[in-house]
Amino acid sequence: MRKVFIGGNWKSNGNLAFCKKHCEEVLNKISFDKTKTEVVVSPLSIHLSLVKDLIKNDIQVSAQNISLTKEGAFTGEISAIAMKDLGINWTILGHSERRTLYGECNETVANKVIRAEEQGLNSIACIGETKEQREKNETMKVIQAQLQAIKNVKPDWSKIVLAYEPVWAIGTGLTATPDQAQEVHNEIRAWLKKEISEKVANETRIIYGGSVSDTTAGDLIKKNDIDGFLIGGAALKPAFKKIVEDSKKI
Ligand code: PEP
Repeated sequence: MRKVFIGGNWKSNGNLAFCKKHCEEVLNKISFDKTKTEVVVSPLSIHLSLVKDLIKNDIQVSAQNISLTKEGAFTGEISAIAMKDLGINWTILGHSERRTLYGECNETVANKVIRAEEQGLNSIACIGETKEQREKNETMKVIQAQLQAIKNVKPDWSKIVLAYEPVWAIGTGLTATPDQAQEVHNEIRAWLKKEISEKVANETRIIYGGSVSDTTAGDLIKKNDIDGFLIGGAALKPAFKKIVEDSKKI
């Protein structure tokens, strides 16, 4: 049985006061069985240590990105080495905002998966199609190219959670329906089975992201191939507690 995975991506939101209030009033009040569920929140890099210290339960803390480079003369970049040193074991990679706003291509994302793995970090690798690609029936073609780039770098798949995040659903209020999401998750799992192995297909968590709320999470999690969520907007609100508590596999 795959553990449910709930990630909260705070993006470039939150200040010191928010971190303190959200940890005390929301995160520390969430109860979950860590043998069945994993919860990871991803604040700004400059707040990682603070949030890590403020959290008093089993919620883990993740980076939102790491650099392609290692230590050295790379002004403004934060390496996986620095994250590991800070005690961070997770990083989001290839979020659609990084792909569209900062020009990260499939190969960059895949190479970052390896940078993370070298330091023992787990990756939440984001994949997904745009509205135009979906309308042209290119969803699986796009996703397979994103997955193929990761396959090409021969990663340790046990350190990867795949986040299917249709770009048209991120921050738009347009959640994919449970059937739409399940269809793609099922195809991703079939790809893993064919291209990697049955074991990897059975064990890899495939989570959904895109306007998940406390009213949509309950129905999405019932689907066989949906193992959890990557949550943006609702991760900044008290709704995050309800989403975690409602996200149980029966
Ligand atoms: C995200 O940024 O990964 C995301 C899914 O955002 P939202 O939940 O706000 O759509």
